[in-house]
Formats: sequence, C-alpha cells, structure tokens
Amino acid sequence: MDIQNTQIASRKHQGLEKKRLLNCAVTDPNKILPFQYPWARVHYKTGVANNWTPEEVPMQGDIELWKRKDDLSDDERRMILWNLGFFSTAESLTANNIVLTIYRHITNPECRQYLLRQAYEEAVHTDTFIYCCDSLGLDPDDIYNMYIKIPSIKNKDDFVINMTKSILDPNFSTVGTKNIQRFVHDLVGFYVIMEGIFFYAGFAMMLSMLRQNKMVGVGEQFQYILRDETVHLAFGADLINAIVEENPEIWTQDFKNTIVENIKQGVELEYAYTLDCLPRGILGMRADIIRQYLEYIADRRLERIGLPKQYDTANPFPWMSEIIDLKKEKNFFETRVNEYQTGALNWD
Ligand code: FE
Ligand code: MN
Repeated sequence: MDIQNTQIASRKHQGLEKKRLLNCAVTDPNKILPFQYPWARVHYKTGVANNWTPEEVPMQGDIELWKRKDDLSDDERRMILWNLGFFSTAESLTANNIVLTIYRHITNPECRQYLLRQAYEEAVHTDTFIYCCDSLGLDPDDIYNMYIKIPSIKNKDDFVINMTKSILDPNFSTVGTKNIQRFVHDLVGFYVIMEGIFFYAGFAMMLSMLRQNKMVGVGEQFQYILRDETVHLAFGADLINAIVEENPEIWTQDFKNTIVENIKQGVELEYAYTLDCLPRGILGMRADIIRQYLEYIADRRLERIGLPKQYDTANPFPWMSEIIDLKKEKNFFETRVNEYQTGALNWD
C-alpha cells in the first residue's frame, strides 16, 4: 500500500473520507448529518417555504372569459392550449426522470431530500394542469395527446428523452469517465434544457397574458410554477457544478462543446415551438421577441454551469426578471407561508 492509499485507509477508518456525489463508498444514504452539500439544504428549505396548491388560485374569471366567444382571439386560445398541452405532460416527464434516473445514482442524503421535495413539486404541477383542464372544461384526450400529435411539442420531449436513454438502462452505472459524462449530459438535458429553456417561452407567453389581466387564474398558476422551477434549475446547476468539481477529468473541451451544442439546439427547438404557438403574434408577444428572450436565458444558463455565452442578446422582457425576483421578497405570499409555518409549530 503506497502512502496515499494508507492515508485514505486511515481517513476511512476514522470516518473522515470526504463524501462525493457519485461512486462514493462512504456515503450512507440514511445518514443526513453532517451535511456535505449545504446548497442542497438551502434549496430544500426554499422549496418548503414556497409551498402551494393549485386550488388556492380562483379560476372563476378564467372560466367565464374562456366561455365568452369574443373576448379571446383564436390566436390567444391557440397559444393557451399549446402551452397547456406541453406542460400537462412535461411535468410528469420531469418527475419520472427524477425518480427513475437521478435519484438512483445520487445517493447523498441531503441531495436526495431535495429530489424528494422536487418530485413532490412536480406532482403539484401535474395536478395544476388537471385543475386547469377541469376548470376550463377542456377535453383531456386533446390536451394530453398534444405531446404526441403536435410536432413542435413532440420534438422537445423526444429531444430530452433521447438524452436519458442510456441512463434509463437498468445496467447503467456511473463508474468511469464516459459514464459520468453521460450522467451529467442527462442532468443538463433535464435541468438546463427542459426546465431551464423549454419551460420559458411558455412562462413568457402565459405571464404576458397575466400582465394584460387575461386568464389571470391560469397566469397565476404559471407564476407559482415558475417560482418552483427557478429553484429546480438552481439545484440542477449546483449539482452539475459539484459533480464537475469532483470529477474534473470529465470536463474536456469535446464534452463542453457537446453540451453547448445541445443547449443551442434546445433554443432552436423552443423557438420552433414558439412559432407554432404564435404563428401571427398577439398583443405584446411575438415569436421573434421570445427568441431574443430564449437567447438571453440560454446565455445565463451556460454561464451558470461555467460555459461561455453564445448569443450576447439583451433581455427583451425585464418584467420576467422582476417576476422571478419577487420570490426573494418576503411580502410575496407571506400571509400564507406564515399560516403554514404556524400550523407546523402546533405539532410541538
Ligand atoms: Fe415542474
Ligand atoms: Mn421542475
């Protein structure tokens, strides 16, 4: 045994070997203290403080507006339906990926605690689209088949599903550089591209309706979802960065180029989807402006995981950042959050 191995052996003996996210023999998934990754705890606590359910949002105004023939244009209806169609199945797709692929390989207990929280939030989001469909009286066969029947939606879903194929194989292990790269490739597919780009044209479209006081209930549902997705994305980026830091050998120029190309392809698919949602544009929203927004957020995502920005496009929707930043302000939803926390205190 050489000196280095002896040192590892003695640190192991004393229980001091540093925990790692992947392929770590000393990680006990049942033993959460002491924490190794405090950011996972912060995201967990933020998620819990953001607790909400779709039934808290009144839908009566939306139901009436949707029924009236003249107050929503055909183009506005198309945009709303396309977004409900994409999100209604995308939330389940994300939940399945967390539970079936990511959770299996990330054994660190504080990360798993967050993944459980995230899986619950995806269940709430799935519930949100059941509630929207029910409220508006939409035919579930129409909405829940759009991810198969509408090419611009199917292409987005297929793109992320293809990124996970090898990881879904029950024999897949994260041992070895190639496999760690595959795993990180999957994380980028789901956290950065699916949750970080494929959700954002929809957020911009639905929140611009909200700003015009149209379909306010659906708009508020999207606002709550956006707040959750911001945390999912932040956790995903922290997870990717930590795995790369612990396995620097995976971060080759080739691998980085592949990830940049995937993200750029994600922007193209999201733009194609936007054109399909908004073939003619509506008041305050046009596909070409949303494209600028997609380029702007793609650059932010790239920088967040240590990759060079590709577009250098200015943010055409500063109001989107204001909505996202609202979550940091205590007054947003404070009453409800306090009630929730008082309820928890009664347990003592
Ligand atoms: Fe979600
Ligand atoms: Mn999510």
